[in-house]
Amino acid sequence: MARVITVAERMMNLRALVCDVDGVLTDGRLNYFGDEEIKSFSVHDGFGVNLAKQAGWQVAFLTARGGTAVERRARELGVHLQTGQRKKGDAFLAICTQFQLAPEQVAYIGDDWLDLPAMQLAGLAASVPNAMPAVRQRAHWLASLDGGEGAVREFVEAALRIQGKLDGLLAAYLKGEGP
Ligand SMILES: [Mg+2]
Repeated sequence: MARVITVAERMMNLRALVCDVDGVLTDGRLNYFGDEEIKSFSVHDGFGVNLAKQAGWQVAFLTARGGTAVERRARELGVHLQTGQRKKGDAFLAICTQFQLAPEQVAYIGDDWLDLPAMQLAGLAASVPNAMPAVRQRAHWLASLDGGEGAVREFVEAALRIQGKLDGLLAAYLKGEGP
């Protein structure tokens, strides 16, 4: 019988994180102001992305929609951005190749059916409480915070704690060496 891989073991392998955007990095609302689309991002997630990078992870945002708001956020955080991709399984594998990592080393966090192909390939599939039920049910790890409310930060801290890196990052931060 195949041995069950625990969530902690999955977290130990991680070297990268791929995030869906709408509903994960945001609350999923699309606000229109004239022709512009306005999205709200959590500063806690931004710090979490920087923590992950400081721990040596690579980070990507993968979204079907795209737009100037997510382009700006990705640029601010210095993360890889892949837009206009509805086939997220294929896009996820392309990002793994670009990162020179196996899918087992990459986590994916998503909230809707579109994310399921990538979640099935990822070493760890994470989701959020405001995700669609079919997505929540297929996640290895579920945040307690909603998308747009710090769920990505919560995930990064949980995984880095398991990897034994979180205390060191906090100590380094307190010495002025933080992200
Ligand atoms: Mg989404």
